[in-house]
Amino acid sequence: MFIDLNHGSGFVYGHAPASVSIGERIDALVDAALVAERAAIAPRDYLGASRIGEPCARRLCYELMQTPVDDGADFGGRLLRVFETGHRFEDMTIRWLRHAGFDLRTHRRNGEQFGFSVAGGRFRGHIDGVIVEGPDVGIAYPVLFEHKALKSSSWQDVVKHGVKTSKPIYWAQVQVYMAYLSVEQTLFVALDKDTQALRYELVPFDPPAAQALSDKAVTVIRAVEARELLPRVSDDPDFYLCTLCPYRIRCHALVPGGLA
Ligand code: SF4
Repeated sequence: MFIDLNHGSGFVYGHAPASVSIGERIDALVDAALVAERAAIAPRDYLGASRIGEPCARRLCYELMQTPVDDGADFGGRLLRVFETGHRFEDMTIRWLRHAGFDLRTHRRNGEQFGFSVAGGRFRGHIDGVIVEGPDVGIAYPVLFEHKALKSSSWQDVVKHGVKTSKPIYWAQVQVYMAYLSVEQTLFVALDKDTQALRYELVPFDPPAAQALSDKAVTVIRAVEARELLPRVSDDPDFYLCTLCPYRIRCHALVPGGLA
C-alpha cells in the first residue's frame, strides 16, 4: 500500500499506478456503475415521439433496429449523469408549478404515465404531464406540459429564437403528443441548468406538421419491418449531423484512413 502525497491531482491509494488519481478512480467506478445500470434496462423496441423530429430517417432506422452504435459512441457515465439531472430538474419545476397553484398531473390514477401508443405499439410517447387547471395567466386549460433542462447557451438560444426554430426535435415531439392526445397547446418549459431561470412558451398544435411527423413514423416503421434502410440525410460523412451521429462509421462505411 502507498499514499502518494506528491501527486498533483489528488492522493493515490493502493496499487494503482501513481498517474491515476483518486478522482479518476472514483469517477471510473461511478461511471461503470451507471453504465451497468443502463445496460440492464431493455432497449426500446419502438420509435419514441421524442425522436421523430430527428432529421435523418436512416438514423431512426438504426435506432429502431437496435443497431449497435460505433465503437466508443455509446453513452458514457458522464452523459448518463447529465440525463439524470434533467429528470431531477423536471421534478423540481413540477413542484414549483404545483406550489404556485397549477394542477399539473403526471400520472393517471392507476400510476401509469400519460401517453400514447399506436401502430401496434411501434410508435409511442409519454408526456411529462398535463396542466388541467391553474391561475389565470392567459392559458386556456388543459395544456400539455413538456420540460427540458438545458445548458445555459442552449437555454439562451431557446429564449432568442423560440422552441420551433431552436429545438425542432422537441417541437416535433410535442406536436405528436398534441395530435394523439387531442390537446391544442403545450406549455414548453425550459430551465437553465446554471441559473435555474425558467422560460415558458405556449406551443400551438400544427395539424399538418403533426400529420407529416406521423407519416414519417409509419415510413420508418415499415422500412425497419422490411429490414431496409431509408436514405441518409447526407452522403457526406463530414456533414455536421453525421459528425454527431453514433452510426457514422457504419453508415458511411468508414475505416481508418478513409472510405472503405
Ligand atoms: S451518419 Fe449521417 S446519414 Fe448516416 S445515419 Fe448518421 S446522420 Fe444519418
